Amino acid sequence: MKTLILGGGIGGHVTANLLRKKLSKEHEVLLVDKKTQYEFSPSFLWATMGWRKPSQITRNLSALEKKGIKYVNGEVSNIDPSTKTVKTSAGEFNYDYLVVALGAELAPYAIPEMSGVAHHFYELEASMKLKDAVAGFSGGAVAIGVSSTPFKCPAAPYEAALLLDYHFRKRGIRDKVSFQFFTPEPQPMPVAGPRIGNMIRQMLEMRGISYHPNFKLATVNGAKRELSFEKGEKIGYDLLVAVPPHRVPNVVKDAGLTDGAPYVPVDKWSLKTKYDNVYAIGDVALVKLFDGMALPKAGVFAHAQAKVVAHNIAADIEGGEKVKFDGKGNCFIETGFGKAGFADGEFYAEPRAVNIKKPSISRIWHWEKIWFEKYWLWRWF
Ligand SMILES: Cc1cc2nc3c(=O)[nH]c(=O)nc-3n(C[C@H](O)[C@H](O)[C@H](O)COP(=O)(O)OP(=O)(O)OC[C@H]3O[C@@H](n4cnc5c(N)ncnc54)[C@H](O)[C@@H]3O)c2cc1C
Repeated sequence: MKTLILGGGIGGHVTANLLRKKLSKEHEVLLVDKKTQYEFSPSFLWATMGWRKPSQITRNLSALEKKGIKYVNGEVSNIDPSTKTVKTSAGEFNYDYLVVALGAELAPYAIPEMSGVAHHFYELEASMKLKDAVAGFSGGAVAIGVSSTPFKCPAAPYEAALLLDYHFRKRGIRDKVSFQFFTPEPQPMPVAGPRIGNMIRQMLEMRGISYHPNFKLATVNGAKRELSFEKGEKIGYDLLVAVPPHRVPNVVKDAGLTDGAPYVPVDKWSLKTKYDNVYAIGDVALVKLFDGMALPKAGVFAHAQAKVVAHNIAADIEGGEKVKFDGKGNCFIETGFGKAGFADGEFYAEPRAVNIKKPSISRIWHWEKIWFEKYWLWRWF
């Protein structure tokens, strides 16, 4: 049997590793990614802050070969579930089981003039460009926020604002910098509930960051350095940092996997798509929660879903009990000053239970995140 895994990010990488361990040698595990390197996104903001070099948070995907996983460096251009074939720039492959883990694509072009004008930290290269822009910034108006929903890691833009505030304080120029945070969301991290949202909003405001919820970005005017929002509001800026719009990759849509939904609808327990033996995990998948909200796009879920899918494909092939994805996840919230918060939640619970762990903001969580980064990269590469 051959399992083809599309995407070597968090979800695809973990699936490939676990499946290889669980299956006997006669079964093939093949992973395709257009990149040659894996980049550890939870550390991108640390790279922007100058706390990590790219070499510390990237790993070669060719390392998969040593584990008996066939790695193909190629771009997926067509997925045909009817013939069970996938076309890539490095050839065509057939499969018995397919795991689609192609993530969400960044689409800055969806907002007029955003490309090339707004900085972001959603790719390693962009995070390094933002690092240079921040280092060269000596004062003025910072506009930071979210251009549209959904986006990966609901906490990341809030962490970015707090870390930039910390950076300018350390440089002694905070009094020369004003901060406006904009987002189409009604509150920070709506899926986490009003208590956590209020806590983050208060944290921003205590640090002198003005918070503008329900501000849906319409256009960026790079010449005037001005943002326009759908209800007519305007925000001027000297430095613009905006989470770009996200999209499902076209190749996934063209395969008929989305059925008109923004991402790939899957069974919330098994991550099965509507096609036989085709799974979608991580950011590319759409998991609806009991109240209609979507499970956030986060690595912690991509990882947990990968475990379930690897286990169940192996159980199908070799026999054994199946397991279910339980919707549990957690996230760190970096706040600067060497501190962080930590939230964990049961996203399938009704009502959802998301809690901030005590101590609410502490050095402990910051150290825990450092440990997690080191452990994750060691464990999976
Ligand atoms: C700044 C930042 C901080 C974050 N912090 C956290 C955090 O602290 N905790 C957390 O849980 N999550 C965090 N996340 C979110 C997390 O990174 C994603 O949710 C996670 O990576 C999703 O995993 P995935 O496998 O679905 O997709 P990805 O990791 O995005 O992997 C998708 C892969 O598919 C490949 N690909 C895409 N299209 C093609 C194609 N056509 N052909 C071939 N290959 C293709 C890509 O190259 C990529 O390697 C953060 C994200 C960002 C940007």
